[in-house]
Amino acid sequence: MPVGTAGTVKAVSQDILEDLGAQIILGNTYHLYLRPGHELVRKLGGLHKFMSWERALLTDSGGFQVFSLSELRKVKEEGVSFRSHLDGTSHLFTPERSMEIQIALGADIVMAFDECTEHPAERERARTSMEMTLRWAKRSKDYFEAHKHECPWADRVIGRSGDRVIGKTEESVPAQPGAAAVHDSITKLTAPALFGIVQGGMYADLRRESAERTVEMDFPGYAIGGLSVGESRAKTMDMIAAVLEILPKDKPRYVMGVGYPEEIVQYAAMGVDMMDCVLPTRAARHGLLFTSEGRINIKNARYAQDQRPADPKCACRVCARYTRAYLRHLFVSAEPLAGVLNTVHNLAFYLDTMRSVRHAITLGDLSGILSGDVS
Ligand SMILES: [Zn+2]
Repeated sequence: MPVGTAGTVKAVSQDILEDLGAQIILGNTYHLYLRPGHELVRKLGGLHKFMSWERALLTDSGGFQVFSLSELRKVKEEGVSFRSHLDGTSHLFTPERSMEIQIALGADIVMAFDECTEHPAERERARTSMEMTLRWAKRSKDYFEAHKHECPWADRVIGRSGDRVIGKTEESVPAQPGAAAVHDSITKLTAPALFGIVQGGMYADLRRESAERTVEMDFPGYAIGGLSVGESRAKTMDMIAAVLEILPKDKPRYVMGVGYPEEIVQYAAMGVDMMDCVLPTRAARHGLLFTSEGRINIKNARYAQDQRPADPKCACRVCARYTRAYLRHLFVSAEPLAGVLNTVHNLAFYLDTMRSVRHAITLGDLSGILSGDVS
């Protein structure tokens, strides 16, 4: 899932995201709550309508961003009080408040409010934090179940393509010629889905316990949070493996905030269904391109006369049209187009990587893709 922090995947317009085949993008509750504000977004018809994105949206709980404001926040049983990084004003996020905001934004997938345990954390601290996340998951679910039908698009319909028919009800979608066509082509959307989040620090037994007790609460999907926070990649994989043994295989399993292209292939092969990461977009704005030949830093002088595309094996619109020499020129000249083109290519590379993974899964053979052949 490309990350669209403030209602935009930075530097890329929605029509290009559609062309790239992005099926779902992520929005950040913390940022949208502060600016432009969830009530404004609700009033304007929800985030889909506001940003003109008819495909799926997932919002995070706001917890992770708030926890990263280390000096500006205070955690209590009730929730987390914090100061805005924009203007210093005081705010309180509770599980109930996080649900209220995400429902107002109109996300298709809402995340439970959790505490992202800091790293490193002693075992007792990780347990205490995990217990709080479980209590907050229960409070999130209670509030969500009572209010989920207040989302801006409840009882709207989606077309066969998966695209949302914004602002229309089932009755207002014109009937297709042919008897069963209407029921075949549209699906009624009733309410968003709430995913639970597994925590537990870097302790496999705490992770397993967190997974078991979260599954007991019966969510339609599960996320593994609090990873990729400075631990080794081997540790990340151990934690994911421990939790995947517990999480039901027939529900979406989502690892939050990962990772490099080779990592997401590995996690998918382990049984992870969903991932999000700012890496392809953030790295692009710093001139780092992911390619089938490895990472390249486009500002490097060696590309000044390089007539090849960023990635000779990539079929994206950037690689079809521009040379490394031109991309380097744009970047060193600080042209805004540099960020746009680099981001489009990196997202194409990530989305192509996942398409290759899905294809390999369909064929029942992941060995080629795990050995690094993602072409
Ligand atoms: Zn490309």
